[in-house]
Amino acid sequence: MDLWYTENHTEGVKFSLKINNHLFSSQSQFQKVDILETHEYGNLMTLDGLVMVTEKDEFIYHDMIVHPALSVNPNIKKVLVIGGGDGGTVRELMKYPSIEHVDMVEIDKMVVDVSKEFFPSISCELSNPKVKLLYEDGVAFVKDKKNVYDLILIDSTDPIGPGEGLFTTDFYNNCFQALKDDGIVVNQNETPVYENFFEVGISSNKKLKKMFPIVEVYQASIPTYPGGYWLFNFASKKYNPLKDIKVNDWNSLNIHTKYYNTDLHMGSFALPNYVKEKFENGNV
Ligand code: SAM
Repeated sequence: MDLWYTENHTEGVKFSLKINNHLFSSQSQFQKVDILETHEYGNLMTLDGLVMVTEKDEFIYHDMIVHPALSVNPNIKKVLVIGGGDGGTVRELMKYPSIEHVDMVEIDKMVVDVSKEFFPSISCELSNPKVKLLYEDGVAFVKDKKNVYDLILIDSTDPIGPGEGLFTTDFYNNCFQALKDDGIVVNQNETPVYENFFEVGISSNKKLKKMFPIVEVYQASIPTYPGGYWLFNFASKKYNPLKDIKVNDWNSLNIHTKYYNTDLHMGSFALPNYVKEKFENGNV
């Protein structure tokens, strides 16, 4: 009998992957962690039953949460990653010799441990001496930080359970304070394909606009995420992601990426009308 993993994206939409093996399953202090060996997408990690990362398409998400900011400000030295337990975001950051230090604040040590065991090609830089791993709540961590980071990457789960506090105005305010005068924050911003996800994305975007002078949305196609179409917020104190991109500087670094390039960067901010209009008028 075939084994299938299924995620309900909405009441009327299910997403299923054929499973060869259920490699790991355990309840942590914060969430249920499962590792499944899929037929088509390699190993899959789910948290509370929701897709987090697969070996086959993780490169898209991790390229797009990291490289746009680094091509706009090549002088980024100190980075804060909130969440990101699988290690993919840190792996991409470590491709930049100019980055001096990364604090990775992940609430759940079990996610890091299983990622080291079942996703070696993703978690490979988690022991890099430039990376400090802190098993703490990101909401509390940023509260007392002032003018410390050049870049904050919020590589979180959806706003349910431990991730809920990572989509609030207070948290974004604290991120604003924790950034230097030319700082940038990037967060995963859900999909516009389904209204319940889109509402979260629009609300998060509106909140960031309360304190950041520049907030732009960009997109990527991620097959295993709801709708296969995912958005990110680029919130910045100084740099505009289109006007200030340093194309020659970034290309001269010869950083190997499987998804990101500077042409795609420009296109990723060119949103379709139905998405653009909703962010402009702030309503789903
Ligand atoms: N790319 C995935 C996505 O978009 O759904 C996210 C991947 S990453 C595994 C998400 C991580 O955020 C998880 O490991 C989870 O434990 C962590 N996380 C959730 N809430 C957190 C919090 N308040 N502070 C720090 N980490 C948190």
